Amino acid sequence: VLSVNHLSKKFGNREVLKDISFDVNEGEVVCLIGSSGSGKSTLLRCLNLLEQPTTGTVLYRDKNIEESGLDLFHYRSKVGMVFQQFNLFNNLDVLENCTTGQVNVLKTEKEEAKKRALRYLTEVGMDTYINARPAQLSGGQKQRVAIARALAMNPDALLFDEPTSALDPETIGEVLKVMKHLAETGLTMVVVTHEMQFAREVSDRVVFMDQGVIVEEGKPEDIFNHPKEERTKEFLSRIL
Ligand code: ATP
Ligand code: MG
Repeated sequence: VLSVNHLSKKFGNREVLKDISFDVNEGEVVCLIGSSGSGKSTLLRCLNLLEQPTTGTVLYRDKNIEESGLDLFHYRSKVGMVFQQFNLFNNLDVLENCTTGQVNVLKTEKEEAKKRALRYLTEVGMDTYINARPAQLSGGQKQRVAIARALAMNPDALLFDEPTSALDPETIGEVLKVMKHLAETGLTMVVVTHEMQFAREVSDRVVFMDQGVIVEEGKPEDIFNHPKEERTKEFLSRIL
C-alpha cells in the first residue's frame, strides 16, 4: 500500500531522518519502535504529508503522494492518522466528530454518514455516547472515538502515533484491545508504540529506529528474541 524510498528529512541543518526505505503491505501491521527523538513521529508524519520529506519519495499504491493533483484531504482519508492527543473536535459531539469528515471530504450524504459513524462507534464500543462532547469522555473513550472517526473514512491504512501514551494505565488496555481487533479484521496499520507486548503479539513486522535510521526490521519474534544489531539489543535491554 505504502512504499518509502530513500526518504530523508531535515529541520534546518539537522537531518532527523536519513535514507529511510521500507514498505507497508496490504493487511500488514507494522510497529515502529525506538527511543525518544529517533524520528518515529516525523516518519509517520511524512507518510501523511503533515511533514514534507526533504528528499526521497512516498508512494501510495505506486503513486508519489507529493505529485501535484493529489487531493491532500482525500489522501488523508485513505491513509488516516490517529494521534496521541486524539485531536477530536471539541465543539462537536461524538457522532458529529465521526460524520463531519465523511460529509465534507468524501461528500457522503448525511444520513449515510451517520449510519457509517454508528457502525464504527459500535465497533469500538462507543455507540452509547453519540451525544457526548469530547470533554465528557475519558482518554480511552476519546481515543476510541478518534479511531471510529478514522475508520468511518473507509481508509486503506491507519497510522497510529503512540495512541496510548496519553492514557491512564486503566484505559490503555481498552484501546489496545480495539487495535488488536482491527488488526484481526485485516486493517493495514503502522503503529508507533512503546507497548512492546502489543508489538510482540499483534504486529507482523517490527521496525527499530535509532537516530533517524532504520537499524533493523523483522518479525517480532526475531527482533525481540534474536536482535542482530547491538543498538537493538541495547534498546531492548533498557525497556524490557
Ligand atoms: P518520541 O518517542 O519522543 O515521540 P520520536 O521518535 O517520535 O520521539 P520525532 O518527534 O520524530 O521523534 O523527532 C525526531 C527529531 O526531530 C527530534 O530531535 C526532534 O527534536 C526533531 N523535530 C521534530 N519535529 C521538529 C520540528 N517541527 N522542527 C524541528 N525539529 C523537529
Ligand atoms: Mg513521537
